[in-house]
Amino acid sequence: MRVFDTKTKKVAYAKQTQAVKGKNKSNCPLCAVGDNANKARIYDFDEMDADHVAAWSKGGDSSAKNCQMLCITHNRAKGNR
Ligand SMILES: [Zn+2]
Repeated sequence: MRVFDTKTKKVAYAKQTQAVKGKNKSNCPLCAVGDNANKARIYDFDEMDADHVAAWSKGGDSSAKNCQMLCITHNRAKGNR
């Protein structure tokens, strides 16, 4: 299965959002490390999409372990590789 199901996405979203809570960091890991206007932004669930940590094309699966949520902008940028 190439796409993550909603439940997997919600779990990843909750985990990431919880991890940065009170740290003034974005819940998008790519925004958080960049020097940009969104680096402390907490995105809503529907402003993000799931990404494979290990690329699907390189054998990454669609388990919760391989799921990270990125903001739509970063997700699109990555997806175009
Ligand atoms: Zn981002």
